[in-house]
Amino acid sequence: MRLTRLRLNGFKSFADPSELSIAPGLTGVVGPNGCGKSNLLEALRWVMGETRPTQMRGQGMEDVIFAGTARRGARPWAEVALHFERDGAETELVRRITRDGGSAYRLAGREARARDIQVMFADAASGAQSPALVRQGQIAELIGQKPQARRRVIEEAAGVAGLQARRGEAAAK
Ligand code: ATP
Ligand code: MG
Repeated sequence: MRLTRLRLNGFKSFADPSELSIAPGLTGVVGPNGCGKSNLLEALRWVMGETRPTQMRGQGMEDVIFAGTARRGARPWAEVALHFERDGAETELVRRITRDGGSAYRLAGREARARDIQVMFADAASGAQSPALVRQGQIAELIGQKPQARRRVIEEAAGVAGLQARRGEAAAK
């Protein structure tokens, strides 16, 4: 799986529609403090199924919606679209959140469950829980973590997290 494009609309500091194409190889994002570099990475994490507002530096998930500035009003919703290539085909995944209605996913134009999105990316060893995404301060956190939590990180890296999630679901039924 290769991520090719990220589109943000009303997400955090990206009040206006913004698009980023991701070329093969290494992509660097540079800019002054507070310009939105971490927000971009959070958008990526969010569209791939992040459910923990704390991972998005927020209290509630609606905190990802553009909150307004002195000159602009807050937005009622936010949307992030991610394009990715898999087996030679390009697919679009969209996640949208409204202030009062929670969030919903569309994969290739069809409604999808959060769980399916999370498992899909876990199988591809990417996604919201993936160690491929390293937050500011996360390395220090990892060192201080309990063995159980550290094991989850290793499972993700080994590409078995998708299997573990399904086993958990099967056991619950
Ligand atoms: P640094 O170099 O310090 O790590 P950065 O480029 O990673 O900075 P971010 O943390 O991505 O910057 O962006 C922070 C900015 O995003 C702040 O100005 C903050 O006010 C703004 N921001 C965060 N959430 C929202 C929101 N919901 N609505 C509007 N602005 C927001
Ligand atoms: Mg940052």
